[in-house]
This record gives sequence, structure tokens and C-alpha cells, in this order.
Amino acid sequence: MKAAVLDKFKEPLAVKKVSDPELTSDGIILKLKATGVCRSDWHAWEGEWNGFIPPLPHILGHEMSGTVEEVGKDIKNFKKGDRVIVPFTQGDGTCPHCLAGYSNVCNHQVMPGFTYNGGFAQYTHIPNADRNLMKLPEGVDFLEASAMGCRFMTAFHGVTSIGKVAPGEWVAIFGAEGVGLSATQIATAIGANVIAVDIADDKLEFAKKVGAVATVNSIKENAPEAIKELTHGGAQVGIDALGIQATMLNSVLCLDKRGRHVQIGMTSFGDGGMMDIPLNEVVSREIQFSGHLACRSLNTQACCRWWKRNAFNRGNSVNYSYLTL
Ligand SMILES: [Zn+2]
Ligand SMILES: [Zn+2]
Repeated sequence: MKAAVLDKFKEPLAVKKVSDPELTSDGIILKLKATGVCRSDWHAWEGEWNGFIPPLPHILGHEMSGTVEEVGKDIKNFKKGDRVIVPFTQGDGTCPHCLAGYSNVCNHQVMPGFTYNGGFAQYTHIPNADRNLMKLPEGVDFLEASAMGCRFMTAFHGVTSIGKVAPGEWVAIFGAEGVGLSATQIATAIGANVIAVDIADDKLEFAKKVGAVATVNSIKENAPEAIKELTHGGAQVGIDALGIQATMLNSVLCLDKRGRHVQIGMTSFGDGGMMDIPLNEVVSREIQFSGHLACRSLNTQACCRWWKRNAFNRGNSVNYSYLTL
């Protein structure tokens, strides 16, 4: 088959012929229709993201959708031709976290494009498919689905499971790109009031189009002060969709007492995962500071239903790029 292969970190991918993926008894061979290109691919391509360094040579790509080409002998839920979406964090289905519904933090978690070959190819193999793969409902096309498997589901988990956003709450979202814009749509659909924060006016304008009731350009304004003024005291939820010191700090500092900070973005190599947290603010104002990782497999169907019900469309994915081979 044809694939875009990463032979060396920070070097261009090479499109070439490689061996077809091998089928295991609990897996399926996926014929890819579209694979999104994500900031996480860039982190993997750099080879410097602590804990997420793929073995070389490697096929990147974790935002996948396609049709089932072949099924392993133990597969019960899928057959050739099924339209499917692939959640990008996958669990074994048996550890305590999977049993609690949190396959995203499985004790034996795997990720296409990181721990096994991903979707920048004509075909890939999905292990443990009965537990992780999801059928794609009619009315959601492959391009939309490949955007959903990572950024939209990640935002869904952050807004619902971790942030527990409720109608009427103020939600400040830092970073108006893939995850941030998805979070804006989801929080808006819940009935919350979203304030989008970014340093680019065109992205903030787009955030308004997908539901933000207010925007703050954090270069032109002091974001925490502006948000406290807009909300008459502070937001109930802050979401850092980027993962740099400034956005994390602004998210914590813009919150009202008992506010919830959701950290979606991970740091780049330079920060090595370490950042300064205003601990006295967190303690004295009873701020909840929650980490967040990717998406739960069981959220996939919920995301598809939301996508259809709320008429989310490709406009969600500003700057959305995808690859087919
Ligand atoms: Zn992604
Ligand atoms: Zn597990």
C-alpha cells in the first residue's frame, strides 16, 4: 500500500510503498477515507513530546475515518463495508479505568499515529476493534468524522466530563482553533456563554460565528481583567486549549471563586511539562484544576449524535487539513 512515512524526526514525510498492515484476531483492517492533520501530529513529528514519541519508521495520523476492509476472526460487531470512526485513544476494555468508562486513560492505552501505525496511509490496522471502533451514523460524512475523532471528541470530554459545564455558566476558552472552536460550539449548545480568547482577530471573529458571545484579544487586553468585567466577577469554567504558560495562567486567573480550570493543551518540549501555577489563588479561591486527556471511546457515538442534532458543520474546522492517499 501507499503511505506517508516518517523516517526521521523533523524531516519531510516520504510517500512510498510499504507492507500492508497485518490482521490480528481482535482487529480490523481499515480502508482510510480521510485522516485529519493535527497539532499532535506536529508534536509526534518533532519526536520530543514526553511520553508520546513514536518508534521510527512510523506512519502518523490519528484522526481517522473509513470503511472496514477485513475483520479478525474474533470480531463480532463489524463487517466489511461498515463506515467507522476511530477514537484516537483506545483502551483494553478490561482495566479499572476502562470499566469505569474512561478508556482514554486505560492502563494499556494505545494510540494510532503514536504507539502503532496511523492513518496517513491507504490502510491501517485497528487492534481491539470491538471495544474501541464506532460505526458512523448516516448523515455524517468521512471528512466531518475525521475531524470529530480527535478535536471534537477531545473538546466534548473537556466540556462535559471534566468541565461539567452547565447552562447559563460563563466559559472562557483559550485558543480559537480546532479544539477551542469545537469546545465553543459544544459549550454553546449546552447553553453556556462562551468568551473566546486568542491573539488573532480573524480567529476570534470565527469563534463568534460558531457561538461565542464575547471575545478577548489577549495581546490587546489583559484577559483575566477583561473576562472578570464581562462576567461581573469571573468565569465558572476556563479551558486552556493550547498549553502554554500564558494561556494556562490566564484561564486560572479569569475564574470566579470555586471555578473549574480544564487543562487540555499539553506543553511543548521546551517547557518539559513544567509550568508555574498561582497556587495561593487556587487554594484561597477553591479553584479546581483538572487535567484532561483526549477522548473516551464511549463518547464517540454521543459526539456523532450531537454533531447531527446541532447541525455542526465543516465550518467548525477552520484551518482544518486532512490527508487521503
Ligand atoms: Zn488530533
Ligand atoms: Zn483499560
